[in-house]
Amino acid sequence: MSRNSFAVRTYRDDAVVLRTHKLGEADRIITLLTRNHGQIRAVAKGVRRTSSKFGARLEPFMVADLQLVSGRSLDIVTQAVSKGSYGGKIAADYDRYTVAAVMTETAERLTDVDGEAATAQYLLLVGALASLSRGDHAPGLILDSYLLRALATGGWAPSFTDCARCGATGPHSAFSAALGGAVCHACRPPGSPSPAAETMELLAALLSGQWAAADVSAPQHRREAAGLVAVYLQWHLERTVRSLKHLERA
Ligand SMILES: [Zn+2]
Repeated sequence: MSRNSFAVRTYRDDAVVLRTHKLGEADRIITLLTRNHGQIRAVAKGVRRTSSKFGARLEPFMVADLQLVSGRSLDIVTQAVSKGSYGGKIAADYDRYTVAAVMTETAERLTDVDGEAATAQYLLLVGALASLSRGDHAPGLILDSYLLRALATGGWAPSFTDCARCGATGPHSAFSAALGGAVCHACRPPGSPSPAAETMELLAALLSGQWAAADVSAPQHRREAAGLVAVYLQWHLERTVRSLKHLERA
């Protein structure tokens, strides 16, 4: 049995790079959301040399099949095979980049507190990054759809039709982040905003992935929806997502 204490534990997993920061002269610490091991921080050695192909696969928003070695404090990435080079197409476009930054920061927060839903969060994030890099829809819509679904996966599914508090059949004209979305006249807390009916319909479409409806929405309803999603997200994360401040929601 004592052999096990000398064995180096290696493992493989698919992962999306959430964030990186410098370590020493040539290394980086990579924050990863893995398919099967939740959120991991690992060291990647030598990746800051400009010629490092290994490093290019470990940039933010990249998806890779990784081999890792368990370390005493941090694991070490020993191999990376690219599975989705979304990083390049996203980094080349400012709107896409800021959207991806909010998505990865949100994923980091959500999987930090709730490791159980990490596989679902991983699949959701990879799908959203792929859609963003392909330019399937307006970046702001991809973001808001991702945020609503990530919150729902985290256990905070909003309602945009029936009353989130008493279940009264909607549509309703008031919104309360604290109560979980649409609220009826009786449940509505004082001062609750009254978004346009089209905005509530857009939010419902983004949550359920009805893209045909979302893609033809008007700019003012997208803006109003984005504001409500941001309020809802911040309520549930309790802390401000820093990137939201940098995001231009035009
Ligand atoms: Zn109600």
